[in-house]
Amino acid sequence: MAGAARTSARIARSWMPELPEVETTARGLRERIVGHKVVRISGVDWPRMLPQTSEAELNAALKRRSVISVGRRGKYLLIEFDRDRWLAIHRKMSGNLLLRPANAASEAHTHLEIEFNDRMLLRFVDPRKFGRVYLYRSSEELTDFLADHLGPDSLIDLNAEVLVEKLRGRRGRIKSLLLDQAFLAGIGNLYADEALWEAKLHPLRTADSLSEGEIKRLAIAIKQVLVVGIERRGTSFSSYRDADGTPGENQEFLNAYGRESLPCPRCGTPISRILIGQRSSHFCPHCQPCL
Ligand SMILES: [Zn+2]
Repeated sequence: MAGAARTSARIARSWMPELPEVETTARGLRERIVGHKVVRISGVDWPRMLPQTSEAELNAALKRRSVISVGRRGKYLLIEFDRDRWLAIHRKMSGNLLLRPANAASEAHTHLEIEFNDRMLLRFVDPRKFGRVYLYRSSEELTDFLADHLGPDSLIDLNAEVLVEKLRGRRGRIKSLLLDQAFLAGIGNLYADEALWEAKLHPLRTADSLSEGEIKRLAIAIKQVLVVGIERRGTSFSSYRDADGTPGENQEFLNAYGRESLPCPRCGTPISRILIGQRSSHFCPHCQPCL
């Protein structure tokens, strides 16, 4: 049991929020910040968090502008301001976006604060400092950036035909392809393991070994684990919290991820863990046979 706890702690440290966690945050923020105007941006104490801008530039670009929309593409949270200004935020390992009253006590590891005219603060809190914030001055600039980094969105764009098309001519391992954001955007280690378990596919299967029926099954499984993950307001496997600071619930319902040696919920066989490209993969050796 101590071994399982250690494994679980190690996996929690290496997990990062994925599409359902970003979508849950976007939905929470949308209700609360759309229509509000930026008063000031402050608190930047970690310049590397802003790879192509600065606190001064953020203020010049966004002060007195209202939030028009809050969206998501892959694992990027997108905030649109009036006159076509955009922030794209990637929280990486440990970044959380928390909405607090302007007079709230300061929070450790806050690296950026946006104050709105309704006396609310949006804080980017990131203990491990891998999170990044990008400023774009037009939707074209933003679209070009996203197109350079992301494949089709796993929730918005994915269906069986898209996945069949994406996998045509590919030979890589399916697990590695699912983690490649330029191949398919939004899925990380946790939802990849859950989708492969759901579709009964071994993570080491190669793309060219999958039948069209198996690919269709996988497309349905991906959609299903993401939609259910969003319904449960994300997985709080490590430090992930939603915009109100509340953990999600999906960690209570995982079938494969982080469950090494525990019984497969479908057949009772102990879940196996292997390393693929330095990342843990969890699967049921009975339900997900390696061909
Ligand atoms: Zn099984």
